[in-house]
Amino acid sequence: MRREEAEGNIAVSEPRCEIEQTRLEGGECERPGEVHYRGTLLCTPHARLLGLEDRAEAVLGSVFRMDEWLEENGSSQGADEEFMGRIGHEREEAVGALRLMRVQIRSARKALSQ
Ligand SMILES: [Zn+2]
Repeated sequence: MRREEAEGNIAVSEPRCEIEQTRLEGGECERPGEVHYRGTLLCTPHARLLGLEDRAEAVLGSVFRMDEWLEENGSSQGADEEFMGRIGHEREEAVGALRLMRVQIRSARKALSQ
């Protein structure tokens, strides 16, 4: 007989990772829920993966906006070259950060599959 049953708390069990309730596929997770992430209780490796993916998505969105801005303003006469250069530089940094995040996401996924 398990300890919980002995104490009469059959309905109360250890909280589990609720990854199946998120957009991430991969079914159920047997790890204990340890971290609250966006209203969902997750195990640490799943919280880490989701956090990385959300951050990458946000950076990707900002690169997209910068591209749009550069397309709209890049060819116009009298464009502020200094400002244009700054946006271009920011874009490069964001793309570099994205590359790094992709590596981190890959290793986070790998850690979960083991
Ligand atoms: Zn999990």
